[in-house]
Amino acid sequence: MIEIRFHGRGGTGSFLASQALAKAVFYSGKYAVSFPSFGAERRGAPVLAFTRINEKKIYKRTQIYEPDIIVVLDNSLFELIDVAYGLKPNGIGILNSAKKPEEIILSKSIRAGVIDATKIAEEILDQPITNSAMLGSLVRALEIISFADLEKGIMSVFSLKIGEKQAKKNIEAAKIAYEQTIFGETKAGRNYEKNQPWLPTIEELPIGTIIPKMKVNTNQLIGPGSAKTRMTGTWSHYKAEINQEKCIQCLQCMFHCPEGTIYRNASKLIVNKSYCKACGICKAVCPVDAINLIKIEEFSEII
Ligand code: SF4
Ligand code: SF4
Repeated sequence: MIEIRFHGRGGTGSFLASQALAKAVFYSGKYAVSFPSFGAERRGAPVLAFTRINEKKIYKRTQIYEPDIIVVLDNSLFELIDVAYGLKPNGIGILNSAKKPEEIILSKSIRAGVIDATKIAEEILDQPITNSAMLGSLVRALEIISFADLEKGIMSVFSLKIGEKQAKKNIEAAKIAYEQTIFGETKAGRNYEKNQPWLPTIEELPIGTIIPKMKVNTNQLIGPGSAKTRMTGTWSHYKAEINQEKCIQCLQCMFHCPEGTIYRNASKLIVNKSYCKACGICKAVCPVDAINLIKIEEFSEII
């Protein structure tokens, strides 16, 4: 499995890059998953995105703490965040910088592919959105996906968001970066302040952590146990159904269901349909295709 962590800034397309990469991997005949990590930050705040690549189906859904590759889309992040943290000893960094690899100082010396993606993006796209150029460099370093597959990945993901014409320009930016990336070693020696843990005030505490069970003035129940009153089953007419003949009781679906609505009863895995919102995660993780999404006509059938 190859694990890639993207470091970018909110609104500059890190997640789009991780999705286009996953699509390119898919076109190359392998498996991939991609997902972002950000909170309620505004445009410009540091954000993360992740892509996992494997020859086999991928069940791991955690964030990536020990990546094989880091991709840093914005060079101002070098000063702010220890982007190399957890990078495996034989890992590589794909870095956006106008400097040579040996002029870049990080917390440790790493193997790096460096490209001035901002310059390329400004010239080709008329704006400093570096995600496609960084993908070009990344694919060059990865060596397991062809540039043709990356082209298809960018076209399929970017054109939905910014249209075909702009997607083609992004492919052009990726191609230039693919050809111009230089490889070398960064320097070690940058020190980063240890992040202080977030210590919330009582007002900032997330609902449900410490607030007692109570009703707010909209008559809504909040606090421990209140999730029971939110019938997420009414969010969709589709419901997960487990084929007991096929089920091998591996419990993957139970652990992955975000609503916690799959439980074991005697020797059977059961879906409580009152809370099944048909996200399809259980179906995706089931190794024996024992789960289907079936349609119900009325919510009264399940609640
Ligand atoms: S479809 Fe989603 S909510 Fe429903 S049981 Fe499966 S994982 Fe849970
Ligand atoms: S993931 Fe599939 S095989 Fe595993 S317990 Fe769930 S339904 Fe059964």
